[in-house]
Amino acid sequence: MNYQPASDRYSTMQYRRCGKSGIQLPAISLGLWHNFGHVDVLENSRKILRLAFDNGITHFDLANNYGPPPGSAEENFGKILKEDFAGYRDELIISSKAGYTMWEGPYGDWGSKKYLVASLDQSLKRMGLDYVDIFYHHRPDPNTPLEETMAALDLIVRQGKALYAGISNYPAEEARKAIQILRQLGTPCLIHQPKYSMFVRWVEEGLLDVLEEEGVGCIPFSPLAQGLLTNKYLKGIPAGSRAAKAHGFLKEEEVTPARVQQIQQLNEIAVQRGQSLAQMALAWLLKDQRITSVLIGASSPEQLSDSLQCLKSKAFTSDELEKIEKILK
Ligand code: NDP
Repeated sequence: MNYQPASDRYSTMQYRRCGKSGIQLPAISLGLWHNFGHVDVLENSRKILRLAFDNGITHFDLANNYGPPPGSAEENFGKILKEDFAGYRDELIISSKAGYTMWEGPYGDWGSKKYLVASLDQSLKRMGLDYVDIFYHHRPDPNTPLEETMAALDLIVRQGKALYAGISNYPAEEARKAIQILRQLGTPCLIHQPKYSMFVRWVEEGLLDVLEEEGVGCIPFSPLAQGLLTNKYLKGIPAGSRAAKAHGFLKEEEVTPARVQQIQQLNEIAVQRGQSLAQMALAWLLKDQRITSVLIGASSPEQLSDSLQCLKSKAFTSDELEKIEKILK
């Protein structure tokens, strides 16, 4: 309410072209998986979104099931959009997805045309939008022909309910097939959204090459490994953190002594570089020009401010990169 975006909002953010498309995305994008549901404090969510836009973050990523409860992140985002961002729709890239369990029965999950079309209609209603900018198939479906799922994305784009199509969590060869089917249908695949961070590196074994060859962008999710790659867990699991929350997807068991030791060692390198571990972890991903944008989460405006500073990182020396590899082995 009465929100006036910063007039210099485009002065510091870097924008990168998404594959071989016409779209540029901010080097940092904001995801609403956690911290925007009905279990969260709406005014905090609002502050995070305002700060993001004030700093040139033009891309907000959602999915049908984000909350909890599922759907509530889209509802809250729609409310804040209407109240704060009403005049700014054309400055925003908003994405949603379908692919995980959303409603009961055989049509509320996976990758059928029936599910994708119905789910996007529900998402648009919850957000109060006529269209999303990007609509993703959220995960591969082993039981639905890839042709059907891609035809659903093509249909949705032709209907004007999404401007671009994307895929998420697809392994390299399945991604290549999906991209080729979409191209044949006349709706090029804009982007792939895989899990990628210092701790999760499968995309380096083929997927990044496929995306480069096919001219498709890449937006890694959980680039901070859900908060592990920050100074948060240096001394155990703090109250209020994702690992401490019952509905958080980061489980206590993932914060092992060996993990904490790695985090401490990485943190030492970050300190020597004069930055926070979060900033170093994001800069480490962004050094690869095939990465269009890193898709971060934040539970407070302070965290977002910290992460945004990664854009001021100095280049890594080969010595630093070697040390990081040794820690990650
Ligand atoms: P991150 O790896 O960036 O983790 C975000 C969490 O890390 C925050 O909620 C916060 O946790 C902590 N954190 C963030 N910044 C800092 C900081 N500077 N200092 C200390 N702690 C910090 O990403 P997410 O796991 O949240 O995923 C990001 C987005 O990716 C999602 O919102 C969603 O849009 C997308 N995604 C897509 C998936 C897919 O299948 N396509 C799956 C998962 C995510 P805390 O709450 O503990 O403070």
